[in-house]
Amino acid sequence: MIDLPGRKTVCDKFREGGGRVAAVMPIHYPRELLRAFGVLPIEVWGPPGMDISYSAAHLQPYVCSMVHNMLAFLKSGGLDCADFIVVPHACDSLQGLGSLLLDFVKPKQPVFPMYMPRGRRPEDVEFLASEVERMYEWLSELTGFRPSRELLMESIRKEEEADSMLSRFYEFRTEISLSVRDFYRIIRTRQYLPAEEFIALIKKVMDLYAGDPPEGIPIIMAGIVPEPMDVLDEIQALGGVVVNDDFACCGRRIYPEGKSDDPFVRMAERIVYGPPDVVRGDLIEDRFRYMVDKVKTSGASGVVFYTVKFCEPELFDLPDMRRRLKEAGIPSVHVEVDINDPLSHQTITRIGAFLEVLE
Ligand code: SF4
Repeated sequence: MIDLPGRKTVCDKFREGGGRVAAVMPIHYPRELLRAFGVLPIEVWGPPGMDISYSAAHLQPYVCSMVHNMLAFLKSGGLDCADFIVVPHACDSLQGLGSLLLDFVKPKQPVFPMYMPRGRRPEDVEFLASEVERMYEWLSELTGFRPSRELLMESIRKEEEADSMLSRFYEFRTEISLSVRDFYRIIRTRQYLPAEEFIALIKKVMDLYAGDPPEGIPIIMAGIVPEPMDVLDEIQALGGVVVNDDFACCGRRIYPEGKSDDPFVRMAERIVYGPPDVVRGDLIEDRFRYMVDKVKTSGASGVVFYTVKFCEPELFDLPDMRRRLKEAGIPSVHVEVDINDPLSHQTITRIGAFLEVLE
């Protein structure tokens, strides 16, 4: 497997350089704002394999394993290296976690709950811009620093460049010889590497690993997060190749460039006009058209919906999405996982059977 720095190494190095670190929960937030304050966002997607006895006293058993694990990770000291915690209100479960952290399980770090608009109208951009500005004031108060408009714009442009580089990496999948798992391990460094290091990594990888991609039946995966990541090895072993995705932690956050000269509005535009997402209130019709386009441009033969157990936002759209895809002649399968469980034989068998149908 390709050697990549982990979250802890990146976090320690950034702090040694005089920076601060924010632990950020899923899904959407303005990376560029934090970076303008000299704060590195390190995203927390679980992590998998936590002891949820730490969270069970505060959360109902029907709350998703993602939120259980984030709380268990925090309570077991996993976020001790962070100076701040940011909880975007992506869904009811994350909103509940935000409230818990503010009122009941108060961590040592200050917590910022960030509200998301539910649409793509001008007023949604306006609302999110005001949330970004609220975060600016919060960070200013905590750090005693007020980044200038120029510094904010510089930070925005750096993140826009990193997103554009990520988009190119997906486009060049057919010219990169990495295994499915390594391809996604690299994509997921966007969750914690500083933008400039991410850009340098992608350039290096595209150079070093130029060549034929693994052969296999092309599929798209969709959901929140590809965990446990063993699933990607299994898919390749079963003769499949993930050629693109609609994962909330990966392809669903390739934000476009903003247009506005106002830094707060520009940061909001990037998130609001990003790929369609149920947690931002996008219509199923938009998500369906986006998925069909992904299938066509990537040459995928089918879609694996790989969802986290009890993830209500994804489950709301799923029956309609699958019905529409079926009518459009695009086969799909749905697999549900708990990110604390090892990859089950049932999951492998189900995906294997789906790949056989696609052959
Ligand atoms: S997995 Fe689903 S329910 Fe859980 S935090 Fe993510 S979006 Fe919310």
